[in-house]
Amino acid sequence: MIILYCILGIVLLLILFMVIRTVLTKALPIEKSDYELHGIDKDLVVAHLSDAVKFKTVTLQNPRAETRVFLEYQTFLEKTYPTLFTLAKKTQINRYSVYYVVEGSDKSLLPIGILAHQDVVPAPEEGWEVPPFSGIVKDNCVYGRGSQDMKSQMIAALEGLEILLNDGFQPKRTIYFCFGHDEELRGTEGALQISHHLKDKGVRFEFVLDEGGTILDGKMLGINNKIALIGTCEKGYADFILESVKTGGHASSPSKRTAVGTLAEAIYDIELCQRRPFFSKPTKEMFKALAPYMKPVFKFLFVNRDILSPLLKLILTKAHPMTNSLLRTTMAPTQAKGADAPNVLPPKATANINCRINTGETIEDIKKHIKAIVGKKINVSLDQGHVDPSPVSDIQGAPYKILSKTISEVFNGYICAPFMFIAATDSKHYYPLTDCVYRFTPFDKTEDDAARIHAINERQNIDSLVAGVEFYIRLYQNACS
Ligand SMILES: [Zn+2]
Repeated sequence: MIILYCILGIVLLLILFMVIRTVLTKALPIEKSDYELHGIDKDLVVAHLSDAVKFKTVTLQNPRAETRVFLEYQTFLEKTYPTLFTLAKKTQINRYSVYYVVEGSDKSLLPIGILAHQDVVPAPEEGWEVPPFSGIVKDNCVYGRGSQDMKSQMIAALEGLEILLNDGFQPKRTIYFCFGHDEELRGTEGALQISHHLKDKGVRFEFVLDEGGTILDGKMLGINNKIALIGTCEKGYADFILESVKTGGHASSPSKRTAVGTLAEAIYDIELCQRRPFFSKPTKEMFKALAPYMKPVFKFLFVNRDILSPLLKLILTKAHPMTNSLLRTTMAPTQAKGADAPNVLPPKATANINCRINTGETIEDIKKHIKAIVGKKINVSLDQGHVDPSPVSDIQGAPYKILSKTISEVFNGYICAPFMFIAATDSKHYYPLTDCVYRFTPFDKTEDDAARIHAINERQNIDSLVAGVEFYIRLYQNACS
Protein backbone atom coordinates (compact mmCIF):
# COMPACT_ATOMS: atom_id res chain seq x y z
CA MET A 1 0.00 0.00 0.00
CA ILE A 2 2.79 2.40 0.95
CA ILE A 3 4.48 1.70 -2.38
CA LEU A 4 1.24 2.54 -4.18
CA TYR A 5 0.99 5.87 -2.32
CA CYS A 6 4.61 6.60 -3.15
CA ILE A 7 4.03 5.97 -6.87
CA LEU A 8 0.88 8.08 -6.80
CA GLY A 9 2.78 10.87 -5.05
CA ILE A 10 5.58 10.80 -7.62
CA VAL A 11 3.07 10.90 -10.50
CA LEU A 12 1.26 13.86 -8.92
CA LEU A 13 4.54 15.69 -8.36
CA LEU A 14 5.52 15.05 -11.98
CA ILE A 15 2.18 16.38 -13.25
CA LEU A 16 2.56 19.43 -11.00
CA PHE A 17 6.06 19.97 -12.35
CA MET A 18 4.78 19.76 -15.93
CA VAL A 19 1.90 22.15 -15.25
CA ILE A 20 4.25 24.72 -13.65
CA ARG A 21 6.68 24.36 -16.54
CA THR A 22 3.84 24.92 -19.02
CA VAL A 23 2.61 28.02 -17.18
CA LEU A 24 6.12 29.47 -16.95
CA THR A 25 6.76 28.99 -20.69
CA LYS A 26 5.80 32.35 -22.10
CA ALA A 27 5.56 33.21 -25.75
CA LEU A 28 7.41 36.25 -26.97
CA PRO A 29 4.77 38.82 -27.87
CA ILE A 30 3.98 38.76 -31.58
CA GLU A 31 4.97 42.30 -32.31
CA LYS A 32 3.26 44.15 -35.05
CA SER A 33 6.02 45.46 -37.23
CA ASP A 34 6.11 49.09 -38.27
CA TYR A 35 7.95 48.21 -41.47
CA GLU A 36 6.09 49.66 -44.41
CA LEU A 37 5.92 47.48 -47.49
CA HIS A 38 7.76 48.94 -50.47
CA GLY A 39 4.83 48.75 -52.84
CA ILE A 40 5.30 47.25 -56.27
CA ASP A 41 3.72 47.22 -59.72
CA LYS A 42 1.50 44.14 -59.51
CA ASP A 43 0.67 43.96 -63.23
CA LEU A 44 4.34 44.07 -64.15
CA VAL A 45 5.40 41.17 -61.95
CA VAL A 46 2.38 39.16 -63.08
CA ALA A 47 3.38 39.74 -66.73
CA HIS A 48 6.94 38.67 -65.93
CA LEU A 49 5.86 35.41 -64.29
CA SER A 50 3.35 34.73 -67.05
CA ASP A 51 6.12 35.14 -69.65
CA ALA A 52 8.55 32.99 -67.65
CA VAL A 53 6.06 30.11 -67.59
CA LYS A 54 5.89 30.15 -71.39
CA PHE A 55 9.41 28.71 -71.66
CA LYS A 56 9.18 24.91 -71.64
CA THR A 57 12.19 24.39 -69.43
CA VAL A 58 11.31 20.77 -68.73
CA THR A 59 14.10 18.82 -67.01
CA LEU A 60 16.17 16.90 -69.55
CA GLN A 61 15.73 13.19 -68.85
CA ASN A 62 18.94 12.53 -70.74
CA PRO A 63 21.50 14.96 -69.31
CA ARG A 64 23.43 14.96 -72.61
CA ALA A 65 20.40 16.03 -74.66
CA GLU A 66 20.63 19.32 -76.56
CA THR A 67 18.15 22.17 -76.19
CA ARG A 68 18.01 25.92 -76.64
CA VAL A 69 15.21 26.54 -74.18
CA PHE A 70 17.29 27.14 -71.04
CA LEU A 71 19.50 29.63 -72.89
CA GLU A 72 16.43 31.38 -74.33
CA TYR A 73 14.93 31.52 -70.83
CA GLN A 74 18.10 33.16 -69.51
CA THR A 75 18.03 35.72 -72.33
CA PHE A 76 14.42 36.47 -71.37
CA LEU A 77 15.45 37.06 -67.72
CA GLU A 78 18.30 39.33 -68.79
CA LYS A 79 15.97 41.42 -70.97
CA THR A 80 13.27 41.55 -68.31
CA TYR A 81 15.60 42.88 -65.58
CA PRO A 82 17.96 45.21 -67.48
CA THR A 83 19.28 47.18 -64.50
CA LEU A 84 20.20 44.03 -62.56
CA PHE A 85 21.73 42.19 -65.50
CA THR A 86 23.74 45.17 -66.73
CA LEU A 87 25.48 45.06 -63.36
CA ALA A 88 25.63 41.29 -62.97
CA LYS A 89 28.50 39.13 -64.17
CA LYS A 90 27.26 35.92 -65.79
CA THR A 91 28.93 32.48 -65.72
CA GLN A 92 27.46 29.53 -67.60
CA ILE A 93 27.99 26.15 -65.93
CA ASN A 94 27.69 22.76 -67.63
CA ARG A 95 25.85 24.31 -70.64
CA TYR A 96 22.47 25.20 -69.11
CA SER A 97 23.04 26.15 -65.50
CA VAL A 98 24.11 29.66 -64.73
CA TYR A 99 25.09 31.98 -61.95
CA TYR A 100 25.08 35.78 -61.85
CA VAL A 101 27.08 37.94 -59.44
CA VAL A 102 26.04 41.44 -58.37
CA GLU A 103 29.08 42.85 -56.60
CA GLY A 104 28.64 44.52 -53.23
CA SER A 105 30.64 47.54 -52.14
CA ASP A 106 32.08 45.97 -48.97
CA LYS A 107 34.38 43.08 -49.90
CA SER A 108 34.92 42.18 -46.24
CA LEU A 109 31.35 40.83 -46.09
CA LEU A 110 30.67 37.28 -47.23
CA PRO A 111 28.20 37.15 -50.14
CA ILE A 112 24.73 35.61 -49.98
CA GLY A 113 23.47 33.01 -52.43
CA ILE A 114 19.94 33.17 -53.81
CA LEU A 115 19.12 29.77 -55.30
CA ALA A 116 16.38 28.69 -57.72
CA HIS A 117 15.97 26.05 -60.39
CA GLN A 118 15.06 26.83 -63.98
CA ASP A 119 13.69 23.38 -64.77
CA VAL A 120 10.14 22.17 -64.29
CA VAL A 121 8.57 18.72 -64.26
CA PRO A 122 6.78 17.61 -67.45
CA ALA A 123 3.15 18.61 -67.97
CA PRO A 124 0.98 16.29 -70.05
CA GLU A 125 -1.87 18.50 -71.38
CA GLU A 126 -4.66 16.19 -70.21
CA GLY A 127 -6.73 17.58 -67.35
CA TRP A 128 -5.45 21.17 -67.54
CA GLU A 129 -8.00 24.00 -67.62
CA VAL A 130 -5.54 26.01 -69.74
CA PRO A 131 -2.52 24.85 -71.77
CA PRO A 132 0.26 24.20 -69.20
CA PHE A 133 2.81 26.53 -70.82
CA SER A 134 0.40 29.35 -71.66
CA GLY A 135 0.99 31.45 -68.52
CA ILE A 136 -2.67 32.48 -68.68
CA VAL A 137 -3.89 34.76 -65.88
CA LYS A 138 -7.28 33.93 -64.39
CA ASP A 139 -8.98 33.73 -60.99
CA ASN A 140 -6.27 36.02 -59.56
CA CYS A 141 -3.62 33.42 -60.42
CA VAL A 142 -0.91 32.85 -63.01
CA TYR A 143 -1.49 29.35 -64.41
CA GLY A 144 1.08 26.97 -65.75
CA ARG A 145 3.79 24.45 -65.09
CA GLY A 146 6.50 26.04 -62.96
CA SER A 147 4.25 28.92 -61.89
CA GLN A 148 4.81 27.74 -58.30
CA ASP A 149 7.74 25.32 -58.57
CA MET A 150 9.66 27.52 -58.85
CA LYS A 151 9.63 30.27 -61.41
CA SER A 152 7.52 32.42 -59.09
CA GLN A 153 10.29 32.41 -56.51
CA MET A 154 12.99 33.10 -59.10
CA ILE A 155 10.96 35.97 -60.58
CA ALA A 156 10.23 37.37 -57.09
CA ALA A 157 13.95 37.28 -56.20
CA LEU A 158 15.01 39.07 -59.39
CA GLU A 159 12.07 41.50 -59.41
CA GLY A 160 12.92 42.52 -55.82
CA LEU A 161 16.52 43.43 -56.62
CA GLU A 162 15.61 45.14 -59.91
CA ILE A 163 13.15 47.39 -58.04
CA LEU A 164 15.70 48.26 -55.35
CA LEU A 165 18.48 48.95 -57.87
CA ASN A 166 16.15 51.24 -59.82
CA ASP A 167 15.55 53.07 -56.53
CA GLY A 168 19.29 53.65 -56.22
CA PHE A 169 20.03 50.81 -53.76
CA GLN A 170 23.69 49.81 -53.65
CA PRO A 171 24.23 46.46 -51.94
CA LYS A 172 27.16 46.34 -49.54
CA ARG A 173 27.14 42.56 -49.63
CA THR A 174 27.68 40.70 -52.90
CA ILE A 175 24.68 38.70 -54.15
CA TYR A 176 24.95 35.47 -56.17
CA PHE A 177 21.95 34.17 -58.10
CA CYS A 178 22.55 30.46 -58.75
CA PHE A 179 20.11 28.80 -61.13
CA GLY A 180 20.46 25.05 -61.77
CA HIS A 181 18.72 23.19 -64.59
CA ASP A 182 18.03 19.70 -63.23
CA GLU A 183 16.71 20.07 -59.69
CA GLU A 184 13.82 17.78 -60.52
CA LEU A 185 16.42 15.09 -61.29
CA ARG A 186 18.47 15.63 -58.10
CA GLY A 187 20.56 18.60 -59.25
CA THR A 188 23.77 16.73 -60.00
CA GLU A 189 24.23 18.32 -63.46
CA GLY A 190 23.28 21.82 -62.30
CA ALA A 191 23.47 22.87 -58.65
CA LEU A 192 26.22 20.39 -57.81
CA GLN A 193 28.36 21.65 -60.70
CA ILE A 194 27.79 25.30 -59.71
CA SER A 195 28.80 24.39 -56.15
CA HIS A 196 31.99 22.58 -57.33
CA HIS A 197 32.89 25.55 -59.52
CA LEU A 198 32.40 28.08 -56.72
CA LYS A 199 34.31 25.91 -54.26
CA ASP A 200 37.26 25.80 -56.67
CA LYS A 201 37.14 29.60 -56.79
CA GLY A 202 37.20 29.74 -52.97
CA VAL A 203 33.74 31.33 -52.66
CA ARG A 204 32.15 31.21 -49.18
CA PHE A 205 28.59 32.37 -48.45
CA GLU A 206 27.17 34.07 -45.38
CA PHE A 207 24.07 32.03 -46.15
CA VAL A 208 22.17 30.58 -49.09
CA LEU A 209 18.41 30.60 -49.52
CA ASP A 210 16.43 28.16 -51.63
CA GLU A 211 12.83 26.99 -51.95
CA GLY A 212 11.45 24.70 -49.27
CA GLY A 213 10.05 26.04 -46.03
CA THR A 214 6.42 26.86 -46.16
CA ILE A 215 3.77 29.06 -44.62
CA LEU A 216 1.18 27.01 -42.75
CA ASP A 217 -2.03 27.65 -40.92
CA GLY A 218 -1.10 26.96 -37.30
CA LYS A 219 -4.48 25.43 -36.42
CA MET A 220 -3.32 21.83 -36.86
CA LEU A 221 -0.82 22.49 -34.05
CA GLY A 222 -3.24 24.44 -31.89
CA ILE A 223 -1.83 27.84 -32.85
CA ASN A 224 -4.11 30.72 -33.77
CA ASN A 225 -1.70 32.18 -36.24
CA LYS A 226 0.18 31.54 -39.43
CA ILE A 227 3.51 29.76 -39.10
CA ALA A 228 6.47 30.39 -41.40
CA LEU A 229 8.75 27.36 -41.42
CA ILE A 230 12.39 27.84 -42.38
CA GLY A 231 14.03 24.63 -43.53
CA THR A 232 17.36 24.23 -41.74
CA CYS A 233 18.09 20.80 -43.20
CA GLU A 234 16.56 18.20 -45.47
CA LYS A 235 15.96 14.50 -45.20
CA GLY A 236 18.19 11.98 -46.93
CA TYR A 237 17.04 10.19 -50.07
CA ALA A 238 17.51 6.59 -51.21
CA ASP A 239 15.83 4.15 -53.61
CA PHE A 240 16.28 0.49 -52.70
CA ILE A 241 15.65 -2.13 -55.38
CA LEU A 242 14.16 -5.40 -54.15
CA GLU A 243 14.68 -8.39 -56.40
CA SER A 244 13.04 -11.78 -56.10
CA VAL A 245 14.46 -14.56 -58.29
CA LYS A 246 12.56 -17.83 -58.84
CA THR A 247 12.16 -20.37 -61.60
CA GLY A 248 9.96 -18.83 -64.28
CA GLY A 249 7.65 -20.68 -66.61
CA HIS A 250 4.07 -21.08 -67.74
CA ALA A 251 1.49 -19.56 -65.41
CA SER A 252 -0.79 -22.61 -65.83
CA SER A 253 1.40 -24.69 -63.52
CA PRO A 254 2.90 -22.32 -60.95
CA SER A 255 5.34 -23.40 -58.26
CA LYS A 256 4.25 -22.92 -54.64
CA ARG A 257 6.25 -19.71 -54.19
CA THR A 258 6.52 -17.37 -57.16
CA ALA A 259 8.84 -14.43 -57.66
CA VAL A 260 5.90 -11.98 -57.56
CA GLY A 261 4.37 -13.60 -54.46
CA THR A 262 7.67 -13.51 -52.56
CA LEU A 263 8.25 -9.91 -53.58
CA ALA A 264 4.72 -8.91 -52.52
CA GLU A 265 5.29 -10.48 -49.11
CA ALA A 266 8.55 -8.52 -48.71
CA ILE A 267 6.81 -5.24 -49.61
CA TYR A 268 4.00 -5.99 -47.15
CA ASP A 269 6.53 -6.71 -44.39
CA ILE A 270 8.36 -3.44 -45.06
CA GLU A 271 5.09 -1.49 -44.78
CA LEU A 272 4.40 -3.22 -41.46
CA CYS A 273 7.89 -2.71 -40.00
CA GLN A 274 8.38 1.04 -40.31
CA ARG A 275 11.45 2.68 -38.83
CA ARG A 276 11.19 3.77 -35.20
CA PRO A 277 9.96 7.34 -34.72
CA PHE A 278 12.18 9.83 -32.89
CA PHE A 279 12.54 13.57 -32.46
CA SER A 280 15.53 14.68 -34.51
CA LYS A 281 17.41 17.87 -33.60
CA PRO A 282 15.55 20.10 -36.11
CA THR A 283 12.16 18.66 -35.13
CA LYS A 284 12.91 19.32 -31.45
CA GLU A 285 13.92 22.87 -32.39
CA MET A 286 10.69 23.34 -34.32
CA PHE A 287 8.44 22.25 -31.45
CA LYS A 288 10.51 24.26 -28.96
CA ALA A 289 9.94 27.40 -31.04
CA LEU A 290 6.22 26.75 -31.55
CA ALA A 291 5.16 25.32 -28.16
CA PRO A 292 4.85 28.69 -26.38
CA TYR A 293 2.21 29.80 -28.91
CA MET A 294 0.04 26.70 -28.67
CA LYS A 295 -3.36 26.35 -26.99
CA PRO A 296 -3.19 24.94 -23.41
CA VAL A 297 -3.45 21.17 -24.08
CA PHE A 298 -1.06 21.26 -27.03
CA LYS A 299 1.25 23.53 -25.08
CA PHE A 300 1.27 21.16 -22.09
CA LEU A 301 2.17 18.23 -24.34
CA PHE A 302 4.89 19.98 -26.33
CA VAL A 303 6.51 21.96 -23.51
CA ASN A 304 6.92 18.60 -21.73
CA ARG A 305 8.01 16.78 -24.85
CA ASP A 306 11.02 15.24 -23.08
CA ILE A 307 8.76 13.54 -20.50
CA LEU A 308 5.78 12.80 -22.74
CA SER A 309 7.82 11.73 -25.75
CA PRO A 310 6.32 8.19 -26.08
CA LEU A 311 2.77 9.60 -26.03
CA LEU A 312 3.61 12.36 -28.51
CA LYS A 313 5.30 9.95 -30.87
CA LEU A 314 2.18 7.79 -30.82
CA ILE A 315 -0.10 10.77 -31.51
CA LEU A 316 2.04 12.37 -34.20
CA THR A 317 2.77 9.19 -36.15
CA LYS A 318 -0.96 8.35 -36.23
CA ALA A 319 -2.36 11.88 -36.68
CA HIS A 320 -1.32 12.64 -40.25
CA PRO A 321 1.16 11.32 -42.85
CA MET A 322 2.87 14.73 -42.68
CA THR A 323 3.49 14.63 -38.90
CA ASN A 324 4.51 10.98 -39.24
CA SER A 325 7.14 11.94 -41.81
CA LEU A 326 8.59 14.54 -39.43
CA LEU A 327 9.39 11.84 -36.87
CA ARG A 328 10.72 8.95 -38.88
CA THR A 329 12.39 7.68 -42.00
CA THR A 330 9.61 6.81 -44.44
CA MET A 331 9.77 3.82 -46.76
CA ALA A 332 7.32 3.93 -49.68
CA PRO A 333 6.93 1.21 -52.32
CA THR A 334 6.71 3.16 -55.58
CA GLN A 335 7.33 0.74 -58.46
CA ALA A 336 6.94 -2.98 -59.11
CA LYS A 337 7.61 -5.14 -62.16
CA GLY A 338 6.94 -8.79 -62.94
CA ALA A 339 6.44 -10.54 -66.28
CA ASP A 340 5.79 -8.72 -69.55
CA ALA A 341 2.76 -10.95 -70.31
CA PRO A 342 -0.18 -11.91 -68.07
CA ASN A 343 0.31 -15.69 -68.57
CA VAL A 344 4.02 -15.84 -67.76
CA LEU A 345 5.72 -16.58 -64.43
CA PRO A 346 8.63 -14.14 -64.38
CA PRO A 347 12.02 -15.53 -63.34
CA LYS A 348 12.61 -12.18 -61.67
CA ALA A 349 10.32 -9.62 -60.00
CA THR A 350 11.57 -6.21 -58.84
CA ALA A 351 10.23 -3.33 -56.78
CA ASN A 352 11.46 0.07 -55.71
CA ILE A 353 11.26 1.33 -52.12
CA ASN A 354 11.65 5.10 -51.95
CA CYS A 355 13.12 6.14 -48.59
CA ARG A 356 13.30 9.62 -47.06
CA ILE A 357 15.80 9.38 -44.23
CA ASN A 358 15.30 11.17 -40.93
CA THR A 359 18.08 13.45 -39.67
CA GLY A 360 20.13 11.26 -37.32
CA GLU A 361 19.94 8.08 -39.44
CA THR A 362 21.97 7.04 -42.49
CA ILE A 363 21.40 5.17 -45.74
CA GLU A 364 23.40 2.30 -44.24
CA ASP A 365 21.00 2.09 -41.24
CA ILE A 366 18.02 1.80 -43.60
CA LYS A 367 19.71 -0.79 -45.80
CA LYS A 368 20.37 -2.97 -42.73
CA HIS A 369 16.76 -2.48 -41.60
CA ILE A 370 15.30 -3.52 -44.96
CA LYS A 371 17.63 -6.50 -45.27
CA ALA A 372 16.68 -7.69 -41.79
CA ILE A 373 12.98 -7.53 -42.74
CA VAL A 374 13.09 -9.25 -46.12
CA GLY A 375 15.73 -11.87 -45.25
CA LYS A 376 17.76 -13.90 -47.69
CA LYS A 377 14.92 -14.57 -50.14
CA ILE A 378 15.13 -11.05 -51.57
CA ASN A 379 18.20 -9.25 -52.96
CA VAL A 380 18.43 -5.64 -51.81
CA SER A 381 20.52 -3.07 -53.68
CA LEU A 382 20.85 0.69 -53.54
CA ASP A 383 19.95 2.62 -56.69
CA GLN A 384 21.82 5.69 -57.93
CA GLY A 385 21.12 9.21 -56.74
CA HIS A 386 21.09 8.56 -53.02
CA VAL A 387 22.15 11.09 -50.41
CA ASP A 388 22.35 11.00 -46.63
CA PRO A 389 20.40 13.60 -44.61
CA SER A 390 21.96 17.06 -44.83
CA PRO A 391 23.68 18.77 -41.91
CA VAL A 392 21.44 21.02 -39.77
CA SER A 393 22.04 24.77 -40.15
CA ASP A 394 22.41 27.06 -37.19
CA ILE A 395 19.46 29.02 -35.80
CA GLN A 396 21.31 31.18 -33.26
CA GLY A 397 23.50 33.25 -35.57
CA ALA A 398 22.88 36.40 -37.61
CA PRO A 399 21.79 34.71 -40.90
CA TYR A 400 18.80 32.90 -39.35
CA LYS A 401 17.87 36.08 -37.47
CA ILE A 402 17.96 38.13 -40.68
CA LEU A 403 15.60 35.66 -42.32
CA SER A 404 13.17 35.46 -39.42
CA LYS A 405 13.22 39.25 -38.99
CA THR A 406 12.44 39.71 -42.69
CA ILE A 407 9.55 37.25 -42.46
CA SER A 408 8.04 38.93 -39.39
CA GLU A 409 8.31 42.34 -41.02
CA VAL A 410 6.81 41.41 -44.39
CA PHE A 411 4.33 38.80 -43.19
CA ASN A 412 3.31 40.87 -40.22
CA GLY A 413 2.76 38.72 -37.16
CA TYR A 414 3.62 35.31 -38.57
CA ILE A 415 5.52 33.02 -36.20
CA CYS A 416 8.85 31.69 -37.49
CA ALA A 417 10.22 28.27 -36.65
CA PRO A 418 13.00 26.07 -38.00
CA PHE A 419 12.11 22.67 -39.43
CA MET A 420 13.38 19.65 -41.31
CA PHE A 421 12.32 19.85 -44.96
CA ILE A 422 10.98 16.40 -45.87
CA ALA A 423 11.64 16.58 -49.63
CA ALA A 424 14.82 17.42 -51.55
CA THR A 425 16.16 20.68 -52.97
CA ASP A 426 19.24 21.92 -54.84
CA SER A 427 20.42 23.58 -51.64
CA LYS A 428 21.83 20.31 -50.27
CA HIS A 429 24.71 20.74 -52.74
CA TYR A 430 25.79 24.04 -51.15
CA TYR A 431 26.99 22.79 -47.75
CA PRO A 432 30.65 22.85 -48.89
CA LEU A 433 30.23 26.64 -49.33
CA THR A 434 28.47 27.64 -46.11
CA ASP A 435 27.22 26.39 -42.75
CA CYS A 436 23.96 28.28 -43.22
CA VAL A 437 21.70 26.69 -45.82
CA TYR A 438 18.05 27.73 -45.51
CA ARG A 439 14.92 26.84 -47.40
CA PHE A 440 11.94 29.15 -47.45
CA THR A 441 9.24 29.73 -50.05
CA PRO A 442 7.78 33.16 -49.30
CA PHE A 443 4.30 32.46 -50.62
CA ASP A 444 1.22 32.07 -48.49
CA LYS A 445 -0.81 29.37 -50.25
CA THR A 446 -3.99 27.43 -49.80
CA GLU A 447 -3.87 23.64 -49.42
CA ASP A 448 -5.60 23.41 -52.78
CA ASP A 449 -2.91 25.47 -54.50
CA ALA A 450 -0.09 23.58 -52.75
CA ALA A 451 -1.56 20.29 -54.02
CA ARG A 452 -1.21 21.53 -57.62
CA ILE A 453 2.61 21.50 -57.49
CA HIS A 454 3.85 18.77 -59.90
CA ALA A 455 0.17 18.14 -60.69
CA ILE A 456 -2.39 19.55 -63.12
CA ASN A 457 -3.53 23.19 -63.04
CA GLU A 458 -0.49 24.44 -61.14
CA ARG A 459 -1.00 28.12 -60.44
CA GLN A 460 0.51 30.97 -58.47
CA ASN A 461 -1.77 33.29 -56.53
CA ILE A 462 -1.06 36.90 -57.53
CA ASP A 463 -1.34 38.47 -54.05
CA SER A 464 1.11 35.86 -52.74
CA LEU A 465 3.46 36.60 -55.61
CA VAL A 466 3.42 40.30 -54.71
CA ALA A 467 4.15 39.46 -51.05
CA GLY A 468 7.02 37.25 -52.24
CA VAL A 469 8.59 40.20 -54.10
CA GLU A 470 8.21 42.30 -50.93
CA PHE A 471 9.97 39.53 -48.99
CA TYR A 472 13.03 39.65 -51.27
CA ILE A 473 13.12 43.46 -51.25
CA ARG A 474 13.27 43.45 -47.46
CA LEU A 475 15.72 40.54 -47.41
CA TYR A 476 18.22 42.46 -49.56
CA GLN A 477 17.77 45.51 -47.36
CA ASN A 478 18.29 43.52 -44.16
CA ALA A 479 21.13 41.33 -45.41
CA CYS A 480 23.02 43.57 -47.82
CA SER A 481 22.90 47.17 -46.56
ZN1 LIG B 1 11.28 23.00 -56.87
